[in-house]
Amino acid sequence: MKYKSIALDGPSGSGKSTLAKRIAKHFNMIYVDTGAMYRAIGLFVFRSGVDSKDENAVSGLLGQIKLRMKYDDSGSQRMLLNGEDVSEAIRLPEISTYASNVSALPVVRKFLLGMQQDMAKSSDVIMDGRDIGTVVLPNADLKIFITADENARALRRFKELKAKGVDTSLEDVAADMAQRDKNDSEREAAPLRAAKDATLVDTTELDFEQSFQALVQLVSEIS
Ligand code: C5P
Repeated sequence: MKYKSIALDGPSGSGKSTLAKRIAKHFNMIYVDTGAMYRAIGLFVFRSGVDSKDENAVSGLLGQIKLRMKYDDSGSQRMLLNGEDVSEAIRLPEISTYASNVSALPVVRKFLLGMQQDMAKSSDVIMDGRDIGTVVLPNADLKIFITADENARALRRFKELKAKGVDTSLEDVAADMAQRDKNDSEREAAPLRAAKDATLVDTTELDFEQSFQALVQLVSEIS
């Protein structure tokens, strides 16, 4: 049986994950948050005290990492790192930087690629990330590249972190986001890029419901 796959890429704070979750629920698909995988590796590296830009050192840790995604009763994805639920810990701002650093290492990308591709072989998936349409699922049934201008994205991420009780400022969030986008776009290994056959969706002027409807329309065309 051939399962449907949707690749959803875009920069940080573009609203990808919130939209992907809703789309998954609406169309009864599995949501795969690939950023959470890079974040879990970032967290492991952070805890190990190893330099997150040192490919040899990080490579030496990968054999100790077992990642698993689990779905709770409400359908939310939980990230398990060696059996520990790290779904909250991986969202802390310092872990974002570690995730961005380890994600630039080819050895880490290779480590996760097979796992991500396997997930699309066993269910209908909507997978979000930076390189899903270009590298992970080049034959996806639908590719969406979602974006919004920098200020709108920083404000969204700031509100999200505030709501979770994380103590931070809009300036810090904006600076961290700009740095991560720069790293993600300029790295050699699988940089953040829209696939040639991706549909671009700019959500700067759209609220959540409007963005969701724009995606529902696109997904309906392949359903
Ligand atoms: O999407 P999220 O912000 O949680 O991703 C965390 C980091 O993981 C990103 O800044 C990016 O560096 C990396 N990432 C990636 N490729 C993906 C998903 C995430 O490089 N497919």
